[in-house]
Amino acid sequence: MSGYDYESKVVSIPDYPEPGVIFKDITPLFSDAEAFQALVKDIADHFRDAGITKVVGAEARGFMLGAPVALELGAGFVPARKPGKLPRETFSETYSLEYGTDELEMHVDALAPDDRVLVVDDLVATSGTSLATARLVERSGATVAGFGFILELAFLKPREALAEKYPSVDFYSLVQVA
Ligand code: AMP
Repeated sequence: MSGYDYESKVVSIPDYPEPGVIFKDITPLFSDAEAFQALVKDIADHFRDAGITKVVGAEARGFMLGAPVALELGAGFVPARKPGKLPRETFSETYSLEYGTDELEMHVDALAPDDRVLVVDDLVATSGTSLATARLVERSGATVAGFGFILELAFLKPREALAEKYPSVDFYSLVQVA
């Protein structure tokens, strides 16, 4: 763990995109070269001995984190995309967000049964996105081997929600918001 002060670079925007939501803007962590390198390395280091063969990230901020973490781990990257974006046969899962509902798709041949998959996203709130991503992984016959995030909205208890469905899967976040 680098000890980098990630929290100081996260900007909180009240009532965005709707009243009552405090939006956590993580883009400054990506525009700062030192922070970007540190966060990718810290997350990859945590899962370095977990035998990860693929990283799956959800559109769009899951791509920003997932691709460099996959590169750092020597793993492949697989996108989970919004409906209608992937050109070939897909699995599809619907889920609810802190604000609204959505759907994610993944190519049916993107993962193989012997893949060990790290599911990543920039931020975990209710865990709906990560649960839907994990269901896509399972439908491929692959194994969910880890959950990795920059920010965890701990007051929404996503760690507990993921542990209920995936009790033996490692959950790691760099910043916990109480
Ligand atoms: P959830 O499915 O509830 O865990 O929400 C996680 C997804 O929604 C992530 O892709 C986040 O980027 C986005 N998200 C949810 N809540 C927030 C928030 N308060 N600030 C920024 N992004 C959020």
